[in-house]
Amino acid sequence: MRTRLVNLRVPTDGQAGKGQDTVPADILIEGEKIAGVTPPGERPVEADEQRTDLQGQLVLPGAIDGHVHFDDPGFTHRETFETGTRSAAAGGVTCVVDMPCTSLPPVTSRANLEAKLAVIEPRAHVDFMLWGGVSANAMEQADWIANLEDVVSEGVGAIKVYMLSGMDTFRDLDTARIEAVLRETCRLGVPVGVHAEDRRLVLGLTEQLIALGRNTPLDYAASRPAAGEVSAVSTLGDLCRRTGARVHVVHVGAGEALDLIASARDEGLPLSGETCPHFLEFTQEDLASQGAILKTAPVVKTAADRERLWLGVANGDIQHVATDHAAGEWPAEKHTGSIWTDYGGVPGVELLLPYLYSEGYRKGRLTLGRLVELISTAPATFFGIDSRKGRLAPGYDADLTVIDEDGSWTVKAKDMHNLNRYTPMEGRTLAGRVTSTFVRGTLVFGLGSGGAEFLGPAGFGQRVKRETRVTP
Ligand SMILES: [Zn+2]
Repeated sequence: MRTRLVNLRVPTDGQAGKGQDTVPADILIEGEKIAGVTPPGERPVEADEQRTDLQGQLVLPGAIDGHVHFDDPGFTHRETFETGTRSAAAGGVTCVVDMPCTSLPPVTSRANLEAKLAVIEPRAHVDFMLWGGVSANAMEQADWIANLEDVVSEGVGAIKVYMLSGMDTFRDLDTARIEAVLRETCRLGVPVGVHAEDRRLVLGLTEQLIALGRNTPLDYAASRPAAGEVSAVSTLGDLCRRTGARVHVVHVGAGEALDLIASARDEGLPLSGETCPHFLEFTQEDLASQGAILKTAPVVKTAADRERLWLGVANGDIQHVATDHAAGEWPAEKHTGSIWTDYGGVPGVELLLPYLYSEGYRKGRLTLGRLVELISTAPATFFGIDSRKGRLAPGYDADLTVIDEDGSWTVKAKDMHNLNRYTPMEGRTLAGRVTSTFVRGTLVFGLGSGGAEFLGPAGFGQRVKRETRVTP
């Protein structure tokens, strides 16, 4: 089937001169692929083509959220693959990369990966990749290296490890074990994403604060200081230097940790970082007023950290932005009576693109081209799917997000599409509105006049596999 989307604008990739972010275009779709992005009317109309008029809206390559916890199977009171990917579709995210650690069994062997896939594949509204992982639990098995080889050969996007984990089913690794993992991933040509906080520092502070009877959101923040991230990233820089492995720091929240990543990159080390909308938006003042709703690990920091992160997403010190979507059961798990046991995590996949479009691009902190890099092109490259996703170009999957640039909307948890609905962004008014999302040429989300919504079927989303080895 051939479709022509007309009366739309696409980013210029900075080629059309200063001040001009977008140009009018037609997009031709054949089957699941983009066949052409051309000036309006340049290609002759074919007899059998369907025509869709987008009324001057902006079309971006679909966003890729490289860091989500959809908890399925195992913790489906928090999120399911069906509700998580529905939320993705509604936010213009056409591919998610799901973490290996918050489902049961964790993705640490081929059998576990296949068990998870059998459950989630029929539930996916958008395309997805899996992270594989190595936990202390996995490394206690004699065949952990063979298991790692198996999950890599299954096409996982990257391998996740923790320097500090709160999960019994996916325990953290000490430095020697991380080095052992990096030697293997370097050989296998797959990147490693690391939760980077100093275990000894954080656990020591936590114990002290609890012993003192402290129990406020700011006490929790005090247990996870910037120094914890800085120390961990410094260790990772050394490991990177020693092993040559491609290492990615997930959810960077501290400006000083980002400084370390930037200087490691200047040195030529294969170290990169991602941050999340909550670190770009909030500080500990917000944590104090919002409480557990904004509890995450790492925790939000100061206004100076936030400014450093915005600078980093604009100048390239940060390679991509992901959400770390992690919803606790609402309200029970977020209101346990103690900040120490309240669930740490916020749902966010639905807000990734709307937030960065509004607060990044429309407020002049990011160019449109940089926005596309941060949430489409760069994650596609990181996860080894850049020959088919992340660009509006012939031969690429027709994954498209359509934005009404004249629209605006107010974030309300009750209107979100995931399972447990709460958000620290409640009440924020964002400029621009996602009105349709296409995955491989098929509409998976549409917002009609009067707010009527269309959602495509669960099970349309397909698994995507890493196609390339990383070259550090
Ligand atoms: Zn996470």
